[in-house]
Amino acid sequence: PHFSFESHEKSLENKVILVTGAGDGIGKEAAIKYAKCGARVILLGKTTEKLEHVYDNILELGGKQPSIVPLDLSGATLSHYEGLADTIASEYGRLDGILFNASILGNLCPFGQIKESEFDEVIQVNVKSQFLIVKAMLPILKMSPAASVVFTSSSVGSKGRAFWSTYSVSKFATEGMMQTLADEYKNSHIRFNSINPGATRTNMRAKAFPAEDPSELKTPSQIMPTYVYLMDDVSRGINGQLLHCQAGN
Ligand code: NDP
Repeated sequence: PHFSFESHEKSLENKVILVTGAGDGIGKEAAIKYAKCGARVILLGKTTEKLEHVYDNILELGGKQPSIVPLDLSGATLSHYEGLADTIASEYGRLDGILFNASILGNLCPFGQIKESEFDEVIQVNVKSQFLIVKAMLPILKMSPAASVVFTSSSVGSKGRAFWSTYSVSKFATEGMMQTLADEYKNSHIRFNSINPGATRTNMRAKAFPAEDPSELKTPSQIMPTYVYLMDDVSRGINGQLLHCQAGN
């Protein structure tokens, strides 16, 4: 295998981890996996029913009781995130990890056909919301003895590709945010990295590649080792890096 880290049921014992886009796809799998590794997860996402389903899953698996935060990143403002930070502080006393996973694909189209409103929405959800969340959460990340913030990149986040439009732009910006923060906080208890999941069997992938056979793709569960590794203190020395879950993409 490309990555040989093995997690266990105490890998993330008592860590408090916020996962965005926790209701579906990779984020759902990561939230459940983190809970299986002993973490207290805060499930943020757009569709409440999906979050409730993940919540039930975690309890059925014997995980610690999660929290649910239904929030649409396209409309949320700094005060929503500051309110969330206050709630996390009073409930848990600190924040040990954030997985920035939620994002939208937008329309894949020739650059000249990108609508201004679509550009704004993709940048709002994929980039600006992450800036606002980091800003609001820094005080409670500082209360953690060892915090890990993980962003989600893509192969089009390091090399542009025709027709990948605002999504590609947003993933480059995400990388830039990660690297800037990693350098700024390199002598602190907070580290910042990103993950490129590679082709993974989810709704987003099916929308981007409608002709592809999903059964040939890795499932979210198969790419979880990298997701746990970066939250686990075993990777404490890793900062400012982009980790690839799958060889070759
Ligand atoms: P999915 O579309 O399957 O899931 C995305 C999740 O983000 C959903 O739970 C969705 O919630 C949530 N979300 C989307 N918009 C908002 C919003 N406005 N507010 C709150 N939550 C929102 O995507 P994947 O699981 O495939 O992707 C996860 C990450 O991995 C993304 O950052 C993606 O760019 C990246 N990636 C994925 C690859 C792949 O092959 N799958 C390859 C490379 C990168 P809801 O369901 O309620 O709408």
